[in-house]
Amino acid sequence: MSASRSITILGSTGSIGQNTLDVVSRHRDNYRIVALTANTDVDTLEKQCLQWQPEYAVMSDLSSAQQLADKLKNGGLATQVLAGVEGLQQVSSLEQVDTVVAGIVGAAGLLPTLTAAESGKRILLANKEALVMSGQLFMDAVRNNGAELLPVDSEHNAIFQCMPHAVPGMAAPEQHGVNRILLTASGGPFRSTPLDHFGEITPEQAVSHPNWVMGQKISVDSATMMNKGLEVIEAHWLFTVPQQLIEVVIHPQSIVHSMVSYNDGSILAQLGNPDMRTPIAHCLAWPERIDSGVEPLDIFDVAKLEFEKPDFQRFPCLKLCNEAMQAGGSASVALNAANEIAVEAFLHKRIPFTAIAALIESVLSQITITDVNSLDDILAADLSARELAQSHINRSQTV
Ligand code: NAD
Ligand code: MG
Repeated sequence: MSASRSITILGSTGSIGQNTLDVVSRHRDNYRIVALTANTDVDTLEKQCLQWQPEYAVMSDLSSAQQLADKLKNGGLATQVLAGVEGLQQVSSLEQVDTVVAGIVGAAGLLPTLTAAESGKRILLANKEALVMSGQLFMDAVRNNGAELLPVDSEHNAIFQCMPHAVPGMAAPEQHGVNRILLTASGGPFRSTPLDHFGEITPEQAVSHPNWVMGQKISVDSATMMNKGLEVIEAHWLFTVPQQLIEVVIHPQSIVHSMVSYNDGSILAQLGNPDMRTPIAHCLAWPERIDSGVEPLDIFDVAKLEFEKPDFQRFPCLKLCNEAMQAGGSASVALNAANEIAVEAFLHKRIPFTAIAALIESVLSQITITDVNSLDDILAADLSARELAQSHINRSQTV
């Protein structure tokens, strides 16, 4: 590899964070871990600090940060422990860091990821919620500060690989003959579950994805297909493509990670085993290639690849995402916020699976959609949608 890179991993204790460390562990001479971060998982972050000896460790939760600091001090480690969102922003903008892995889940990732963009870093973007919330503002921050945005989300990474001219955020792909983006989706665990069983779906069933091992929130999003709707919005911003050119394709095997169709009749696809270490390794080394530790795909073994149209009745969240995107302004912020509240409530068994889409729909229909021209606008829209969603849940439980 040509140059070594110095990395901050936002959300190092999560699925994306751990997969990133796995890839980096195969190339220790080429990557230096400068900062690791987590929310409340003190034990995992302590183990990671002992293994990687970063300069900084950040815990957003203040008492967790204090616990980690005590443990690391007792262990004689020089790692400096920071706390809160300010700590996250600090390690996203350190001069000695050139690469920031955005692996925090949900809206909590917005501020540190935006800071990385404003600081001109190479950003390995997994945290799609940040982009869904801040779209234009985030892409402007990337462009205006010379940041480099590389998509880790497997579908977007596949699209990126199938568009050799693409620099995320820089040009409209139609200029290079792209006429359609085919965004693949596995269809999740309930692709063929009878619709009248949806009311009894448990959190345990929803988080066991047939093809991918991921964090809880994105697993539920995959089960409702909200994840795919968020990914349409993500693709729109990343690749500067209009929504109408992005088509969701159900592909149950999760071997084709997305496709790009060109006006000469070509469709380019990226294939591989469903393992996030492939897109992570691609982004870590880009434009070079490194070993990711992923088993090579045996095409004879997978021989059969199926593609279907999505069923909007089964997956109303897909439709809600399309509508929010069309509405523009703060609608995507409200959609994302309502979804985060709904998923959390479902995981705690406070609402049934089917109430996730219903809750988002009522929040979107009741809330006032405003223009979003600043970070303050985004944060205000996020907060009011969260409050409205929470009040719906509280009300439904007192009836
Ligand atoms: P996860 O739940 O496994 O990990 C989340 C990480 O974020 C943890 O390190 C956690 O400590 C941290 N975190 C959570 N809340 C936080 C808060 N309030 N403040 C600071 N840090 C906080 O999630 P994941 O599956 O790794 O997903 C991370 C992001 O990557 C999500 O946006 C998801 O949509 C995206 N993504 C994940 C996968 C995957 O395979 N897991 C694939 C594509 C995209
Ligand atoms: Mg994805």
